[in-house]
Amino acid sequence: MKLTVLGSAAAEGIPALFCHCEVCQHARERGGPDIRRRTSYLWDEDILIDLGPDLFFAQVSFNLDYAKLRHLLMTHSHADHFLPESLQYRHPGFSILPADCWLTVYGNARIERRVRKICTGDLSKYFFDFQRARVGEEIDLDAGRSAVPVAAAHAEGEECLNYILKADGKTILVGNDSGWWQEETWRMLAAYQFDVAIIDCTYGQSDSCEGHLGVPGLLATRNELRKLGALAADSRVIANHFSHNGQLTHDELIARLGPEGVEVGYDGMQIEL
Ligand SMILES: [Zn+2]
Ligand SMILES: [Zn+2]
Ligand SMILES: [Zn+2]
Repeated sequence: MKLTVLGSAAAEGIPALFCHCEVCQHARERGGPDIRRRTSYLWDEDILIDLGPDLFFAQVSFNLDYAKLRHLLMTHSHADHFLPESLQYRHPGFSILPADCWLTVYGNARIERRVRKICTGDLSKYFFDFQRARVGEEIDLDAGRSAVPVAAAHAEGEECLNYILKADGKTILVGNDSGWWQEETWRMLAAYQFDVAIIDCTYGQSDSCEGHLGVPGLLATRNELRKLGALAADSRVIANHFSHNGQLTHDELIARLGPEGVEVGYDGMQIEL
């Protein structure tokens, strides 16, 4: 099982378009892991998690072929995760797709509404179909792989999702874009022992847990997962989804999280199990 971090930033990306804060200026000078695309993940070569605005950038940076995608798992509809026009470009006249290019998109009700508004009529013209992702309902993703959606604590007005990825007896929790989970989610997570937990770190130094987490909330979340038996002492914990407003550069994040045994996500990071 291989998961590639295609992006590791929150809404604005880093450096943010118009921003001259210290983190953005540092990223412009240093490049490398301080440059952060909006968060998404590629599982093996054929499963994408989130359809954000930086997929083109990731494609050319990491030499990817999105025609290989067969499944798209959507977490929620915020603009840093969801650019539905990208699906429209699968229509003949925009793109020439290979014959075996069929894609299934999984998401909540709002994602479905937005997709159907942009891709009008029969979705098969765009060589994909849509299936509602529902909390606790396991999604079969072929080749012995599956994903279980759980409720994120993130935003009003839609059912935001985190995903438990399962393959080869291994599990990865993709937990970004969530604050401190509701009781129901903690209960569901307690049934697993994750090999890897990816946890939100949008707020940097801040201890807020409202819709996202910072370093203090991430460590508290890690500790709670351990207490519930969902993380072994040697399980990997990876921080991801960083905002420049968190006021920590890549090296500063490592200095803060490294001693806690938490890895700092970066664009192009490969998680192999
Ligand atoms: Zn986000
Ligand atoms: Zn900035
Ligand atoms: Zn969001």
